[in-house]
Amino acid sequence: MRVTLQALGCRLNEAELETWARQFQQLGHQVTTDETSADLVVINTCAVTQEAVRKSRKVLRRTQRANPRARIVVSGSFATLETQALAQEGGIDLLIPNQEKDHLVKTVTAELDLPAMPLSAMAAGANTLFARGRQRAFIKVQDGCRYRCAFCIVTLARGDERSRPVPEVVDEINRGSAEGVREAVLAGVHLGGWGSDLGLGLNNLIGAILAETGIPRLRLGSLEPWELPDGFWDLFANPRLMPHLHLPLQSGSDSVLRRMARRCRTDEFARLAAEARTRVPGINLTTDIIAGFPGETDDEWRQTLDFVADIGFGQVHIFAYSPRPGTKASNMPDQVPTEIKRQRSREMHDLARRMKGETLTSQLGRQLPILVEGRHSGKPDGDWFGYTPNYLPARLVSAPAADLTNQLLQVELAAIHPDGESLVATLPP
Ligand code: SF4
Repeated sequence: MRVTLQALGCRLNEAELETWARQFQQLGHQVTTDETSADLVVINTCAVTQEAVRKSRKVLRRTQRANPRARIVVSGSFATLETQALAQEGGIDLLIPNQEKDHLVKTVTAELDLPAMPLSAMAAGANTLFARGRQRAFIKVQDGCRYRCAFCIVTLARGDERSRPVPEVVDEINRGSAEGVREAVLAGVHLGGWGSDLGLGLNNLIGAILAETGIPRLRLGSLEPWELPDGFWDLFANPRLMPHLHLPLQSGSDSVLRRMARRCRTDEFARLAAEARTRVPGINLTTDIIAGFPGETDDEWRQTLDFVADIGFGQVHIFAYSPRPGTKASNMPDQVPTEIKRQRSREMHDLARRMKGETLTSQLGRQLPILVEGRHSGKPDGDWFGYTPNYLPARLVSAPAADLTNQLLQVELAAIHPDGESLVATLPP
């Protein structure tokens, strides 16, 4: 069986894809990126925003047109929240809601009666799925969330917190390492909640991975700012834990944060950012901001712009608020008109661009290792391209012609690239 896997939305959905790909391969199926020749297509959908819903539908229709004989399995938040509507539309062989995702491969194999070849028949290197960079693996370690932020649909779709046990995660990373993966990213719906059901904390997991695997780089996915475990900063003394943290702020106005039912206020966030920068020199802090949450006044938005500028982030992911049925915020009064949401998003984009420029400038002259992912934009004559430990993109100029993919190279950060988005790196003489 030839199987194609596609993910929309967050890194977590991509992490799940990696797990399924491995499980399909263990059963002897071949994982391929060519959906037109696939016997089975699995689509891991997303419903966090209306745009994500639109894209999920689009990918589904395109797949049905491109390969009418393939059997189609749809999972993810869109499949969970719109089960009936999707079932009525037809053309889908199996819908797997989020609660049953952990058994997706088993269920698909059983329900669709898929023939599996013996393990030894697997083509070597068949996993071309992650051609965009086999050096980085997203490891799903946690699912579900105990909190109920007013805008968040993910928590409704994913249920209670569940953590993968330490040995399972360590094994997966060691397997990836043996296959040439140089960087593991820990992902979860609510990563900071890892271990809540095991009587452990995220620091236990990170410590075990650093001690029991040889993975050269370990990164953390998005972490809610109120949940950093005790002893967290000490872990960064190990240079294999990358100095980058994505801490979703969502708003820089305390009254909006209260309405959002967030657990962290601005003064706590500011303390946390200061501590991060003292304890982990050179750390890159990035965040999420929602523009136009219900009832957000001009004054509250101004507070957000000022607070974000005061903290200074290397990158800001900006979301214009879109109501998701079933969430508390969707029924709140004073929904903000679309044009105002757009205007606020534009203002935040401008600020984010300026802050990114400042962050890149602050790195000039540093000597750091970059992990080369390939040629920029995948062009054969593009610059070699990779990320610094603190997750800033760097383009390597005047490099030798040899293939540098997946190499950790010590470089000097010499300039800002004319694209304004990345650093120019040179090899030391
Ligand atoms: S903590 Fe994160 S996952 Fe949980 S409800 Fe809030 S935004 Fe959603």
